[in-house]
Parts: sequence; structure tokens; C-alpha cells
Amino acid sequence: MADLAGETEARFGGVVMGAQREHRSAEPTPLAATLKQRIALEGPISVHDYMQACLADAHAGYYPTRQPIGKDGDFVTAPEISQVFGELLGVWAAAVWQAMGEPAVVVAELGPGRGTAMADALRVFEKVPRLLDSMTIALVETSPVLRDTQRAMLAPSPAKPHWCESIDAVPQGPLILIANEFIDALPVRQLVRADGVWRERCVTLSHTGEFSFCAGAPVEAEAVPRWGSNDMPEGAIVETRPAISPLLAQLAERAKRAPVAALFVDYGHAESGVGDTLQAVRRHRFADPLTAPGEADLTAHVDFAALGATARELGLAVYGPMPQGEFLLKLGLETRCERLLQNASPPQKAAILSGAARLADPRQMGVLFKMLALQSSGLAPPPPFGDI
Ligand code: SAH
Repeated sequence: MADLAGETEARFGGVVMGAQREHRSAEPTPLAATLKQRIALEGPISVHDYMQACLADAHAGYYPTRQPIGKDGDFVTAPEISQVFGELLGVWAAAVWQAMGEPAVVVAELGPGRGTAMADALRVFEKVPRLLDSMTIALVETSPVLRDTQRAMLAPSPAKPHWCESIDAVPQGPLILIANEFIDALPVRQLVRADGVWRERCVTLSHTGEFSFCAGAPVEAEAVPRWGSNDMPEGAIVETRPAISPLLAQLAERAKRAPVAALFVDYGHAESGVGDTLQAVRRHRFADPLTAPGEADLTAHVDFAALGATARELGLAVYGPMPQGEFLLKLGLETRCERLLQNASPPQKAAILSGAARLADPRQMGVLFKMLALQSSGLAPPPPFGDI
């Protein structure tokens, strides 16, 4: 059984500063005050509800209140590292659209961040005019701040995107969906083995009034995932992601009526395992997840085995996961970089090469990040899982 805990500097291509996991006193963030009051009144809250509040609280949560991505933010993502990332997602989407028989299609993105990947993909779509004419762009984004950034980023493009609050609101019909680093931002539930049973892992207040983890009430047997055995030692932690089932059920429902192809890109493990993968990142450094609620990005590894198994149970065809480096190389990373190098200045050349290495090098993001494709049954395997 894989032990999932441990550092994941590779998540950022090796650029996140050393692990800073020592416990610090909580900062008096607006959300810290609200959560402390809630715990004082209601008792410990689950890690899931803590993570949900930190990321999504409408007034003081992380995503609704800031633009977190890029050098001046807290973390950097693949589309911000190299334009080739979004371009190759565009190549993928165009190939899948052709395999679908070139229908009128909704091209949707979950959690588009600054809108960079979609802007880069659109340059590819513009080279396939029939696709540009047949598509509607839908961006699923909850953060008003990021919606504004995306609007500005995509303003020069001929496509006129729709913004949707959730996947349920994406227009019906054939669907091509991409999602980079979306699932890692959906809250996880943690179960911890304590006193010989599985309990909800919770956040409480210590006697000095600081946030601390604790083992809460025992959980019902159905909540324990397949990989959580009763033989595991005290303190063992397993994670599940409750939002995955409804998300994939939406895709499976749509797939009954029209062709669907989805590409999920994220950091995580190919096999389910044991361990606490909750991590906080702030200003390009690892932080303590309990120190500054609402002010740090909280994520947890994506369990690709669980994701694929849920999709299969729902009747979707599953391809991958494939390591990001392999996926990008097979889709033409080198050829695209060679084209860009032809007209580049020496500093641009260095940036193109280092960007490609960060995305594809196994010691950087090339293996920790993975691609999982889900499709309605009856479609040809998508590239590069099948022949292009
Ligand atoms: N894909 C982008 C951004 C990743 S950060 C990139 O690669 O740069 C996560 C993104 O998901 C942000 O845009 C965030 O606002 C959005 N997000 C987080 N939770 C969400 C939810 N429940 N519904 C819709 N969007 C969400």
C-alpha cells in the first residue's frame, strides 16, 4: 500500500521553497475568527468542512477573494509556465472533436484560473475554422475575481464565453471538457484510525485556542473506502473526495444523450493509498494548513484510481492516468517548442526550454502530474491513448 504523505515540490516544477511544516500560531485572518466561533459553539468541524470554508467561503475564503495564480500570487500552474501546455490541450480537444464527427460542441473548462489555458487553446481552434464556428465556450468558475481576469484574458478572442456557476449549468449537447488543477481544490474528507475504529478527522481548538487536528466521531462503514482496511495502525489516514461522484454523475448523464470527452489534469497518485496529503501553499512556500485559514491555497492529492473507478461504475470509458510528460511529448511538445524557438530571442529560447522541462521532466511536473480522459462509450480512444 502506497504511503502518500511526503513532500511534493514537484507539484510546482521544483520551485516551491522548502517544506515549512512546523506549526505556527494561527494568524488572525477574518476566516479564523469565524471558524473559532463555530468550533466553540458546535464542537470540532470535519477536515472536509474546514477545507471547504477555507477555499470557498464567499466572504473570506481563498478563491472568492483573490487572484492567487502567478509570480505575484501563491502558486504557478502549467498554463502559466508555458503557452505550449494550453496549445496542446487545444490540439487534444480539436482531435477529439474530429473523432466525434465534428458536431456543434460545447468546449468547457472547470476552474480556468486566469484563463490562460483557454486563451492558448483558442489559438489552435482558430486554425480549425469549422471548429471555431461550431463551438460554444463555457467556463465553470465560482470566483468573481477570477471571472474578471478570465474575461479580460479572453476579450481579444473571437469566441464569446459563457460563465457557469457549476457543471450543471453548462449548455447541453456534445461536450469537450478540460480541467487542470481543478479536482485538487475540491475538499477531501479524511478518516483517521483511532481506538481501533475509523473516525472523522476534524479540526478543533487546543487549550491555548489554536487550531489543531483531532479524531472525531466514528464513521459509518459505507464511508470507509475500499483501500481503508481495519488492520491499519492507529493514526493511519485515508482520504475521499465527496464532490467527485456528483461531478462524474453529471458527465455520465450527459454522455447518455450526446458524446462527451473530458480531460482531467492534476497532481496525484495512480494507486489509492494511505496518508495525509492535505497541503497549504502561500507565496510559493509550503505552509501549515491550519495557520492562516482563507489566506493559503489548500489542496490534496488526486486519487486517480478512485476517480477512474467511479467513472467506470457510472458507465464512462476511462483512459489513463498517463504521466503529464508522456502525454505532452506524445501530443507534440518537442515539435511545438522547435517552432517557437525558430523566432525566439536568446532569453525567450531559455524560457521556452526551461518551461518545457518543468512540464515534462519526471523530476519536475512530468510524473507527479497526470492526465485522465473520460469519454462516453462508443467513441474512439482519445489521443494520445489511441492513435492520433
Ligand atoms: N486551471 C487553472 C486554475 C487552477 S486553480 C490553471 O491551471 O491555472 C483552481 C481553479 O478552480 C480556480 O479558477 C478556482 O477559482 C476554481 N474553483 C475552485 N473550486 C471551484 C468550484 N467548486 N467550482 C468552480 N470553480 C472552482
